[in-house]
Amino acid sequence: MKLQNYISGSFIEPDSGEWMEDYSPATGEIIGHVPKSQKSDVNKAVQAAKDALPSWSSLTHVERSEWLDKIADNLESKYEEIAQLESKDTGKPISLAREVDAYRSVKNFRFFAEIIRNLESEHFEMEDANNRIIYKPVGIGALITPWNLPLYLLSWKVAPAIGMGNTVVCKPSELTPMTADLLMKAIHEIGLPKGVINLVHGDGIGAGSPLVSHQDVNLVSFTGGTSTGAIVAQSAAPSFKKLSLELGGKNSSIIFNDCDLDKTVPGVVRSGFLNQGQVCLCGSRILVQESIYDEFVERFVNEVENMKIGDPSNEDTKLGALISPEHLLKIEEYIHIAKDEGGTILTGGYPCLPKEFEKGNWIAPTVIADLKVNSRCSTEEIFGPIVTIHKFSSEEDAIKIANNTRYGLAGSIWTTDLEKGNRVAEQIHTGMIWINTWLHRDLRVPFGGVKDSGVGREGGKWSLGFFSETMNICTKYD
Ligand code: NDP
Repeated sequence: MKLQNYISGSFIEPDSGEWMEDYSPATGEIIGHVPKSQKSDVNKAVQAAKDALPSWSSLTHVERSEWLDKIADNLESKYEEIAQLESKDTGKPISLAREVDAYRSVKNFRFFAEIIRNLESEHFEMEDANNRIIYKPVGIGALITPWNLPLYLLSWKVAPAIGMGNTVVCKPSELTPMTADLLMKAIHEIGLPKGVINLVHGDGIGAGSPLVSHQDVNLVSFTGGTSTGAIVAQSAAPSFKKLSLELGGKNSSIIFNDCDLDKTVPGVVRSGFLNQGQVCLCGSRILVQESIYDEFVERFVNEVENMKIGDPSNEDTKLGALISPEHLLKIEEYIHIAKDEGGTILTGGYPCLPKEFEKGNWIAPTVIADLKVNSRCSTEEIFGPIVTIHKFSSEEDAIKIANNTRYGLAGSIWTTDLEKGNRVAEQIHTGMIWINTWLHRDLRVPFGGVKDSGVGREGGKWSLGFFSETMNICTKYD
């Protein structure tokens, strides 16, 4: 597949005339070519968004909701294609690509269609006046997304952004460009007005950076790593762009001795290793109350070792490949660091796979015990199939360990005492906590982190707030 940029309703080549290679994480083979875009391509895309803005922003919420529904319909007809492309491009199991990526990509458009259709202006009455709050488009949005959940995260931004009347330029990760291209084909097929959604492929420096700093871009919604987020924030600051940053995480799963182990063990395995641990919400530090530590660890390791790793296209596969050789190297380095820090590898190593996968990026799920709670492996984001397990004695101890990281995105608590679960949850410095579950998403609720995990919230009305300017019109009565 030789991909193109999508600008002003046309698929066009990058000005550089250069493409980058897109590799299959599972086999290492080249599966596509991605435009190597540069500033001039970004300029064209921003101009297209600017040209489209007046007519798109003058549509009503209901009219724009209808477009979102049409996009959802078209994506739904491509459900299996989304799953296949995403599995091939990211190395994730096909079952996961169907259940999570394809499902949420369609759902995001449907969900925002529904809430934007029903959006009403708020009123605040005074004795002698009325305040009417309206939501106006911000302008041109730069939407920048990572490789772990490509269309899931892109659609999470595109739907509320255009639904609220903005026009956008998207920059997906160069590592996983395929489903962003599919989305452009979908909007092209349904005849979405040209310039409302534009797409510039390329790397962060060549395409992402000029997009974020472009003087005509009014808002930036960025999901990615914390260090990139800091650069993006700096570039966006001089022109006071509206900014949402969804960044890294190092989330704790806190397991109390009164938990239901039959539910907790599979729940914590899922939270540790879904998508090979490459989900910002993954619970990669597992804190276990000391009286059940041995039993939990034995059952947990057993369950981890029973996960089927291998061919992402196989329906039974639970774990696929890592995104890139560079990312695999990072994971291997952290395993060395863990050993140097005194950690014990309870399970891990390399899976034994057929020859066709020998050039892929493979490593077995790795469980590490005996590390200090402030060791590098238990406080830094690794973003791969590695979890560290630690003992705690009391509620206070668990809270202290959970808060001992620069990140503050999410976490989970496992207990049958819901009062205790809620009490502990309130004291964890994160944006989200699940009790007796993980990644159980209601799209109406706020999503985002504190500390180095980000700035702002998206989700439900928080997305609508971010992707719009609220304006108050105060009318004095006679
Ligand atoms: P990166 O920060 O490396 O990249 C994210 C996106 O930013 C990519 O499209 C990248 O382009 C682009 N980019 C890189 N440099 C710049 C720049 N200077 N200006 C503008 N854009 C730039 O993250 P990863 O793709 O490696 O994703 C993994 C990270 O994402 C993890 O830290 C994870 O925790 C986080 N994440 C957070 C989520 C959340 O909701 N909080 C959800 C999912 C992931 P390219 O890669 O093409 O160079």
